[in-house]
Amino acid sequence: MRDAFTSQQPADGEAPPSILLAGAAAGPEPADEPSWWQREHAEPGFLVAYLSMEFGLHESLPLYAGGLGILAGDHLKAAADLGVPVVGVGLFYRHGYFRQVIDAAGRQIETYPPNDPARLSLTAQLASGGEPLLVEVEMGGEVVRARIWKLAVGRVPLYLLDSEVDGNSPAAREITDRLYGGDSEHRLRQELLLGVGGARALTALGLVPTVVHINEGHAAFASLERARRLVESTGLGFTAALERVRASTVFTTHTPVPAGNERFALPLARSYLDDLARRGGSSFEEIARLASGPGEEGLGMTQLALRTAGHANAVSELHGQVARRMWAGLWPGLAAERAPIGHVTNGVHAPSWVSAGLAELLEGVGVELAGAPGEQGWERAGRLQDDRLWAVHRAGKAELLEPLGLDPLRLTIGFARRFTTYKRAGLLFSDAERLLRLVADEQRPLQIVLAGKAHPRDEEGKAVLASIAAFARDPRFAGRVVLLENYDIGLARRLVQGVDVWLNTPRRLQEASGTSGMKAGMNGVLNLSVRDGWWAEAFAPQAGWAIGDEVSARGDEAEAQELFRLLEQSVLPAYYELDSAGLPARWLGMMKASIALVGERFSAGRMVAEYAERYYLPAHRDAMRLAT
Ligand SMILES: *Cc1c(COP(=O)(O)O)cnc(C)c1O
Repeated sequence: MRDAFTSQQPADGEAPPSILLAGAAAGPEPADEPSWWQREHAEPGFLVAYLSMEFGLHESLPLYAGGLGILAGDHLKAAADLGVPVVGVGLFYRHGYFRQVIDAAGRQIETYPPNDPARLSLTAQLASGGEPLLVEVEMGGEVVRARIWKLAVGRVPLYLLDSEVDGNSPAAREITDRLYGGDSEHRLRQELLLGVGGARALTALGLVPTVVHINEGHAAFASLERARRLVESTGLGFTAALERVRASTVFTTHTPVPAGNERFALPLARSYLDDLARRGGSSFEEIARLASGPGEEGLGMTQLALRTAGHANAVSELHGQVARRMWAGLWPGLAAERAPIGHVTNGVHAPSWVSAGLAELLEGVGVELAGAPGEQGWERAGRLQDDRLWAVHRAGKAELLEPLGLDPLRLTIGFARRFTTYKRAGLLFSDAERLLRLVADEQRPLQIVLAGKAHPRDEEGKAVLASIAAFARDPRFAGRVVLLENYDIGLARRLVQGVDVWLNTPRRLQEASGTSGMKAGMNGVLNLSVRDGWWAEAFAPQAGWAIGDEVSARGDEAEAQELFRLLEQSVLPAYYELDSAGLPARWLGMMKASIALVGERFSAGRMVAEYAERYYLPAHRDAMRLAT
């Protein structure tokens, strides 16, 4: 496909590649090549606005912290591939998310290099007189202005609001300084700019979305703004206006972890929302009731989003069950399992994550990475030739491992994710003696490459990072355990293309989906993971290994023992077993099964097609019905 993204991306720190922006010049879909959307749906007037606090498109554009943002980026890329009419709306952070350095004591040092719009090929959106197009949002007695930048993601535009505008007060300018920096009030101001400002920006740009997709609770204020506008422009009452907003709103919840479900103190929230609520024919008390469950304190953004979105989903089958139980209190009349939250399992954008070498081999056997969902032919990965697949895999390992002084022949485990307690990075290190025996084995050695950031305010996460750093510095593990700094999209790409096994050890039911394992699995890197999130539905013994069973979490100790048992009895023997041609035939068979299974079921194309058919189109039709 002409607009597809490729994994040939530039080195760290360079401007986004022109291919990222190719759609800007390409314009509408070429007539000779109708998109999936045009062939299957093409509903007139249909337009989705996708609102997200973060977007991860490329390492040179640090407007993301981790999984949530990269998912949003992959969503836009896949929507572009499929031709689904979507526009993204987010914030342009002048200092983005931090770069990580780890000092000799294992402490994380955070720096915030500036983002320069000119170097990042963003286009300023202008008003008719040629001056910057501005949106205004009232915040605590002050009018905050924001300008709008556009970034073309293939044919999908992403609009980014930026409060660094002449005439704004210093405090107003700071709103878009950093992603997830600052205190609760700062975050509230950012979320008002995203939700209220985002909805106003669409209007200022002349766009009329029929569906608004709220990616995580951060953007939920968009619903209040849309209700206010209906009340002021049509004379509807708040309840009727909110019904219309609900009909056309899709909300995705991304985590069961309490810290990921924001809450604002009521006095703070009142000082910012009182006026908006009244102009919308409602009151702050009514909004606060919408934004809380029985007996809860504060204004909860997930609750607000669930109550103002008529269509809601979790991000894996298992997370759907967890989310329905977790939020059941919002629907006291329903049994918990009938709470109206479905699921669309996350996916990753294959052309962005599969190595160039493997992509070429796959194309050679007839797999179309950016093809229409269900028509990509991933099962043909079974036809890959052992020697060629192994050569490509070895090349990916050499590229990652040789600069680190590690031997690419050894079985290499990758572990990279945010350092936070529930992800249990320490599980593998919980029995240091047993691990030492594995890494020091002369015949069948094991080595481990790790990376990850801790949230700037997560002291426990930083302690986990420091303990891993101590293992990496321990002379007994020298040359066998390596911790890399600054986990970002570029490093993630190298890791998921350059190790043999992708390890994930979350505490069960806390990992909503996880996507790094999908990136790895598509590259033939075998998952060894707790049955949580996406792996609970993906696990198949021919394509990887599962720690634990499907029903319970058995505690750190028991799960660590099982992890070691799997490594010793299954993973290491399979990797080091060579056939007469000197190839690990059994391992290669598992790699092919992994590529086929993960590619088929966990691509972002499949995900976006599911959103389109099961959420966007019904929301669009509901909205049309109510509007007439
Ligand atoms: C994919 C990705 C993530 C999310 O992966 P999880 O499996 O959800 O931890 C986080 N950070 C980066 C840089 C990624 O590429």
